[in-house]
Amino acid sequence: MSTQIDAVTLAQDMIRCNSVTPADGGTLDVLQSSLEGLGFKCHRLTFGGDGTDEVQNLYARWGTQRPNLCFAGHTDVVPVGDAKAWTVDPFAAEIRDDQLFGRGAADMKCGTTASIFTYLYLSRLRHLLSGKLTLCVVSDEETGGYWGSDYLLREHRDQFLGDCVLNGEPSSVDTIRFGEKAPFWFRIDVRTQGGHGAYPHLSRNAIRLATELMQALYELEDTIVAMPDKVQQVLARREVAAAIEKGLGAGASEIVPRITLNIGRIEGGVKVNMAADACSFEVAFAHIWRRIFIGDVAFFGHANDRPVIKGTVERDG
Ligand SMILES: [Zn+2]
Repeated sequence: MSTQIDAVTLAQDMIRCNSVTPADGGTLDVLQSSLEGLGFKCHRLTFGGDGTDEVQNLYARWGTQRPNLCFAGHTDVVPVGDAKAWTVDPFAAEIRDDQLFGRGAADMKCGTTASIFTYLYLSRLRHLLSGKLTLCVVSDEETGGYWGSDYLLREHRDQFLGDCVLNGEPSSVDTIRFGEKAPFWFRIDVRTQGGHGAYPHLSRNAIRLATELMQALYELEDTIVAMPDKVQQVLARREVAAAIEKGLGAGASEIVPRITLNIGRIEGGVKVNMAADACSFEVAFAHIWRRIFIGDVAFFGHANDRPVIKGTVERDG
């Protein structure tokens, strides 16, 4: 049983687990054995079903009274993409020039490590603290959190709703991140009769219809949505904008009050000279003020009442 752990080593051990979302890849075993080696009891919650992947979650807690201070982290990572394009092995957790490289180093295995260490440090002061301290680590954040944070708050709200939640998602060392947005993902399936590309008068090309829809969607990025006065006043302060830009890069303060939209996947078509009969694409909306989404989706659902257009709401995040 180890009596101490090292933060960099723990982050490296986590990065070496291939935990492409929603797989846990053994990451939670690493956390559990580290914490339990120090005498901190961990609990595992495994959810899933309806043909979905099994999702592992871990929590540790002490105290029973409110307020509940909650550290929220995730161990899953987005896919590595083209592995040959990496200059390091994405799962080797290599250190170069005092910097740790690997998939999930930024988002957010180092942040989760910081939460774990804060949990450990505060535990030493437990005799001075009232309230409850919860460490919660999920493994499907990058797929929307349905069986992770979302599930915990839906089904075990009393246990996991924090009076204050601290999250070590990547921001910067200069500021606490402000303006995390609510996600909303959906897929649009376009269907047409299809046919030979030389006869566009006989059938519309599903790819062309899809691109027209995409252009209409992108126009929503110009929308600045009404938000609570308090939030608006904070965002309007020059030092807040400067802090956002410093932490997240030039231009970040411009997009915080706006919808951001990403079309992350597209598929359709059979051959260069055929009018595609099907095209599907997946859209991720994000906005700081959630209520916009319902209206926007209604707009798209009714914007084109031709039967060839079918919008599918995958998940309301
Ligand atoms: Zn993250």
